Amino acid sequence: MNLSVTTSQLKLREKWTISRGTTTTKENVFVELEADGVVGRGEAAPSARYGESVESTLEMIEAARPLMADADPWGFCDLRARLDMLREGQTAAKCALDLALMDWVTQRLGVPLYRFYGLDPQSTPVTSLSIGMDTPEVLRRKIEAAAEFPILKIKLGGGNDEEIMATVRSVTDKVVRVDANEGWRSREEAVEKINWLAAQNVEFVEQPLPADAVGDLRWVRERVSLPIIADENVKTAADIPALVGLFDGINIKLMKSGGVQEAVRMIHVARALGLKIMLGCMVESSLAITAAAHLSPLVDWADLDGNLLLAEDPYRGVGVENGRLLLPDRAGLGAEPVR
Ligand code: MG
Repeated sequence: MNLSVTTSQLKLREKWTISRGTTTTKENVFVELEADGVVGRGEAAPSARYGESVESTLEMIEAARPLMADADPWGFCDLRARLDMLREGQTAAKCALDLALMDWVTQRLGVPLYRFYGLDPQSTPVTSLSIGMDTPEVLRRKIEAAAEFPILKIKLGGGNDEEIMATVRSVTDKVVRVDANEGWRSREEAVEKINWLAAQNVEFVEQPLPADAVGDLRWVRERVSLPIIADENVKTAADIPALVGLFDGINIKLMKSGGVQEAVRMIHVARALGLKIMLGCMVESSLAITAAAHLSPLVDWADLDGNLLLAEDPYRGVGVENGRLLLPDRAGLGAEPVR
């Protein structure tokens, strides 16, 4: 296989703030794998939270180049396992290669990815639209612009939670999911905030405390009624068994799992352990978002909106109608470069 790699600065429509900080652009890495005249495409959205940068992502992809050059793409499962042996972590880079492999394989088979996994494209969930932290004026404008989306995901954990929720509820009574992004400072604050949110048509709360506060997370869950979902506490299938009793569900992201093959494994492990499943994302183009959307018929909740934050999306793929994900029916991932 021939492997080519590019990086791209993706400009956001507006600044994006969560409890960890603010961004206005995102630099992602794009790969193409070519063999027998077919090109498979993949994307990496490196995350500093998980020890990744554009540089570390490029380094991982270069380390994989000899492996990919000699490999038969039909050995995609074996290849994915060999990527894990090259480096620990660096799952965004592994995701880019995994997506390119699966795009190639499903294009050669002539089927969309959802069909390869035996899924019904009519049973995709609605996606929530995430609203970053902002001033009341900007929040109001963003919530009004999100009229099409039946469910919002609101970012809290930055110190002005009361102001944000009061603003949200002054504009809309629709269902809200809350993501604290590890931002609450103590287990007492987490319990107080979650029980306060329970009276405000909030469906669940994501990652109330830092991932290493495992004992506190158990203490919190025993004192609240809303479901608690793990995000920063879970990357791959191996992380899931330890979360039973601490969380009600998990947020799977292709950039954390290292692609669709591991994400599918995670879905089945989580189901077997009785956990609910959300499919989430980083700031990604429609290439990686479309790949995740193909798996969405398998999950309870989708939060696949990273592409909607972009001023210019370099790919076209999954659509949204009244909040519901619309899968492309082309062979492969079905995401096409916008030229
Ligand atoms: Mg999250």
